[in-house]
Amino acid sequence: MILHRAHALRTAFLGYPVNELVSHVDAIKEIVEISQLARVNSAITESIAIYPLKQGYFTVSSGSEDSNEYSIDIYYKQSKSCSCQDFLYNIDKDKNHMCKHLWKAHILIILNFLPTVTNDLYEWSLAELNKDIEFLQTYPVSQRRQSCVEQMKIVINQFQKETSESLNYRKYMILRANILSQILNVSD
Ligand SMILES: [Zn+2]
Repeated sequence: MILHRAHALRTAFLGYPVNELVSHVDAIKEIVEISQLARVNSAITESIAIYPLKQGYFTVSSGSEDSNEYSIDIYYKQSKSCSCQDFLYNIDKDKNHMCKHLWKAHILIILNFLPTVTNDLYEWSLAELNKDIEFLQTYPVSQRRQSCVEQMKIVINQFQKETSESLNYRKYMILRANILSQILNVSD
């Protein structure tokens, strides 16, 4: 595990910036052009939450509690694109440059905390939920751990009753991040 799982899910699905992320993108920073560096930095230090929408697509919620939350969709396939203003008006598409949202998705995909474009979203999500239980079971036995495991089992149960067409992945990704955050609060 590259990153602490609960931390990683917070940064992916609740949008918290995570310090550990910084050390994992040094290699990226070394190879990007100067004009892209600021966007890579924003991707790892700003509060940007990304959720799977459908295969190859993500939706992004951004903005702090006090300000306007907005939602944009990103298309993460061969020709990556984002519906944000920066991507539409400023990004050098000929050079395949990316906005901070695409960078955030890119980094989280590399770290295996978002599905790749070839992953079946339903299968990927279900496998992740089961990994969450395995992860929780690495914690010392406690009432809180037991409570988290029970909550996660309920989420898995609900998830399995849905069909892959109608699934709201965002809802489930937030639920699992919230459950794992409960264990973080007592151990970190
Ligand atoms: Zn964008």
